[in-house]
Amino acid sequence: MDPPPPTVLAAPGGYLFITMNLRPGAEQKVVFITARVHPGETPSSFVCQGIIDFLVSQHPIAKVLRDHLVFKIAPMLNPDGVYLGNYRCSLMGFDLNRHWANPSPWAHPTLHGVKQLIVEMYNNPKINLEFYIDIHAHSTMMNGFMYGNIFENEERFQRQAVFPKLLCQNAEDFSYSSTSFNRDAVKAGTGRRFLGGLLNDTSYCYTLEVSFYSYIVGGTTAAVPYTEEAYMKLGRNVARTFLDYYRLNSLVERPLAATPKTRKEKLPVFKCTTQQGQGTSHADRKPEKRSQAHLKDQSLSAQ
Ligand SMILES: [Zn+2]
Repeated sequence: MDPPPPTVLAAPGGYLFITMNLRPGAEQKVVFITARVHPGETPSSFVCQGIIDFLVSQHPIAKVLRDHLVFKIAPMLNPDGVYLGNYRCSLMGFDLNRHWANPSPWAHPTLHGVKQLIVEMYNNPKINLEFYIDIHAHSTMMNGFMYGNIFENEERFQRQAVFPKLLCQNAEDFSYSSTSFNRDAVKAGTGRRFLGGLLNDTSYCYTLEVSFYSYIVGGTTAAVPYTEEAYMKLGRNVARTFLDYYRLNSLVERPLAATPKTRKEKLPVFKCTTQQGQGTSHADRKPEKRSQAHLKDQSLSAQ
């Protein structure tokens, strides 16, 4: 069967953008997401569910994301641990998030399979694996936040901070101030640390953590208990942040009514700074795809 013709979208800026990512032979930008490597961290499944539900929906943003990016999602890395009701380990008693360096096909089969797929994609010149996000839940911290890696290269380090900063603007429960970048020995063997060392310098690897308990919205002191819906909403906000990151806003079919105003009113949740001045986000390497309107929009929402 012949592949479907590429979609042609008319952008408000007056140019046409031909979606390429699903055409045979086209370069693919891949976002790889995993969740529930630790079976007791049930919120990670709700966040992942929110991401999936949004991406497969008819929402105009989801359509644009599907046209431009490929999402690979492994929603449960530790199904046997979940089945058994374990808190952290697999059936064989392994903390899988410490075995990324050398996973065994018999002792850590899910990890082995996912890592093989990631390495295959990395070695495929037609695939650019740009993001890896591993979703966890945290038993003592509040809000959603991220862990990232530390790099010698200052520019790479700064570029890595762009996505969490954008997410902080989109999600009232996400805290950039709680986001940290580390290379603790105790975190060696985690997906984020290992893949951060394996992938090239245009790939970003994060652990996305979300509190088991609650979040505090900026300007208030009251803790808002998380609900299943709130976890899924965080997932939806993670997905839509890729629209900002890749500056695809101008391609969304209808304007996002009220969203910028609401966002502005709720700022600052936590101290969010934009990537203004860094100018080195991944999308920046293809400035022809940038929307000036969006740049203006961002500067307005930055405080
Ligand atoms: Zn965890």
